[in-house]
Amino acid sequence: MDGPGRTPHDATHGVDLPATQSVDLPSTQSVDTPATHSVDSLATHSVDVAIVGAGPVGLFAAFQCRMLRLSCVLIDALGETGGQCTALYPEKPIYDIPAHAEIEAGALIAALEAQIAPFAVPRLLGRRVTGLSGAAGAFSLRTDRGERIAARTVLIAAGAGAFGPNRPPLDGIDAFEASGAVQYVVRTRAALRGRSVAIAGGGDSAVDWALSLAGVADRIWLIHRRAKFRAAPESVARLDRAVADGRIALVVPYQLHALEGVDGALSGVVVSTLDGAVRTLPADRLLAFFGLSTDLGPIADWGIETGMHGVIPVTPATLQTSLPGVFAIGDVASYPGKLKLILQGFSEAAMAAHAIHGIARPDQVLRFEHSTTHGLPVS
Ligand SMILES: Cc1cc2nc3c(=O)[nH]c(=O)nc-3n(C[C@H](O)[C@H](O)[C@H](O)COP(=O)(O)OP(=O)(O)OC[C@H]3O[C@@H](n4cnc5c(N)ncnc54)[C@H](O)[C@@H]3O)c2cc1C
Repeated sequence: MDGPGRTPHDATHGVDLPATQSVDLPSTQSVDTPATHSVDSLATHSVDVAIVGAGPVGLFAAFQCRMLRLSCVLIDALGETGGQCTALYPEKPIYDIPAHAEIEAGALIAALEAQIAPFAVPRLLGRRVTGLSGAAGAFSLRTDRGERIAARTVLIAAGAGAFGPNRPPLDGIDAFEASGAVQYVVRTRAALRGRSVAIAGGGDSAVDWALSLAGVADRIWLIHRRAKFRAAPESVARLDRAVADGRIALVVPYQLHALEGVDGALSGVVVSTLDGAVRTLPADRLLAFFGLSTDLGPIADWGIETGMHGVIPVTPATLQTSLPGVFAIGDVASYPGKLKLILQGFSEAAMAAHAIHGIARPDQVLRFEHSTTHGLPVS
């Protein structure tokens, strides 16, 4: 797929790992995503740092690790890197990334990929890390494909966990999801050009996408169970104007009731009120924005102290979790004053990499140096 959500996986790279390390992967295993960062050559190697999660923070952590000459591997449950930026809002502009007045989320991920490209960091995509055993200096991670990865340390950059959208409980929705008629993420606006789109939800995502698709889609209905939307005041004001001039039709207070159509081809979205009033919208696309499920998943069973809402408490100075040798950064990490912002995750990646060095290379003294002093240690 074209567009800013894509990441540049087309360069061919070798794998640069210290020969004394070992990663225990089945040698027959194939990597079906960015094939050029092959992990087959890791079969007899291991890494200093296993990075669980290849969202924006995991990607920058790979850069920070390699700047300190720590070998690493990126592992992600999704088939491509970028985490929430790629999966949820690739075409949305972000305004609070330092030195970028505005950058689309997909373009940010492409830039992070370009930054680590010289290091050819190996990655295992489409794999969920399910198990962790061992201790600092000698961990073993297992994936849901049965692979094992040996790592001296573990850096969890798992964001909201192996996240997924909250799906409305509608009969037969699987077939409509499979055909793309029901979506939880807008990958490109162009794919919705000329469509009749029902958008369900009452928060920022639903309102923002309704506004963004007005003028692209043929018709837009915005369905919410209340008349009041929980979106930014400026967005709500724009929504009011779009409704007034007929670009968006509000369907309130209604909720999703059923889907109509055959073989995954959506022909109608049935909505109902709490009183039982029913109407059918002749939509051929349904975008449902009911938030993300934030479940740490298997990470919660690794013997690490966890907090409410799927977060992992860490020591702020080092980002180390309650389990020595296991660190957490980005959205998943929690400490007093934490802001779930990409820029904060970037800073945590730098601090964690320095703390990790002491465990992964206990015999080496790490002297703090600026990147301008030593350049990129790619050789
Ligand atoms: C609509 C929207 C708009 C936003 N706007 C902004 C903004 O303007 N500015 C800003 O700073 N932030 C913004 N954010 C928040 C920002 O996207 C997050 O802070 C950021 O993505 C966190 O990065 P991360 O790498 O920590 O986690 P994520 O991006 O969540 O990535 C974590 C990755 O870990 C993987 N994973 C989890 N568990 C496992 C496992 N067991 N095995 C393998 N892989 C696993 C997941 O598949 C995922 O790819 C926005 C978020 C949304 C949804």
